[in-house]
Amino acid sequence: MYAIILGAPGAGKGTQADILSQEMNLPHIASGDLFRQALEARTEVGLLAKSHMDKGELVPDEVAIKIILERINQPDCASDCLLDGFPRTLHQAEVLDQALEERGKSIDRAIYIEVPNEVLVKRLSGRLLCRTCQAAYHIVNSPPKIPGRCDKCGGELYRRSDDKEETVKERLNVFFAQTLPMLDYYKKQGKLIKVNGNQEIQKVTEEILSALRAPISS
Ligand code: ADP
Ligand code: ADP
Ligand code: ZN
Repeated sequence: MYAIILGAPGAGKGTQADILSQEMNLPHIASGDLFRQALEARTEVGLLAKSHMDKGELVPDEVAIKIILERINQPDCASDCLLDGFPRTLHQAEVLDQALEERGKSIDRAIYIEVPNEVLVKRLSGRLLCRTCQAAYHIVNSPPKIPGRCDKCGGELYRRSDDKEETVKERLNVFFAQTLPMLDYYKKQGKLIKVNGNQEIQKVTEEILSALRAPISS
């Protein structure tokens, strides 16, 4: 199955994609992680992406499309994958469909995790990420067992520089202006699943899993 996880910054895309990818045995491909890896490797794409990420803007479509298509052309994504953070514009969604169609595949489900704005801001202001495995923690909601260390791999936890207040505001504006309108594209195709992301992590997972099992009605 090819599924995408959509939601504003802080909605819990990474957290849910991590759990679902293990439960359903799908590779978890996160566009933001690909950019951050490219930056660590000091590639041209990484440096270009950083200049946009620091301002809270989207990275240009061509750059995001290229990095994702290269990744989903790898053998582990030949028949399944869970995309987190891509597509984020209508153009990205259309290009992704074309690319999948060329290999006789298509997106099966688009999962939209809905969370009120004030909750998003609180989540991002307390988010911690593992430098090694990218697992997400929260200072208050889901703290690591040992401060500063990842429960899963022992890696170092850090705060993303774009999780600071001014950049968060801009990222939320960008989400509402450029990404939210894209939901209609999947709704029209009868692929959209909306879940309440403002509940415990495990409850959100259960809601997603039961929606994935049910046939789409709207
Ligand atoms: P996204 O990938 O959508 O930006 P994350 O998965 O990184 O979001 O989650 C953002 C922050 O919110 C993290 O600190 C994470 O631990 C926390 N979080 C995720 N889901 C929930 C939830 N259901 N309830 C409370 N906190 C959550
Ligand atoms: P979050 O969902 O928590 O905002 P991500 O890690 O998904 O964070 O994205 C971080 C940044 O990476 C975005 O603010 C944007 O600059 C860039 N980015 C990630 N995915 C895309 C994409 N599909 N198109 C354009 N830019 C992207
Ligand atoms: Zn880790």
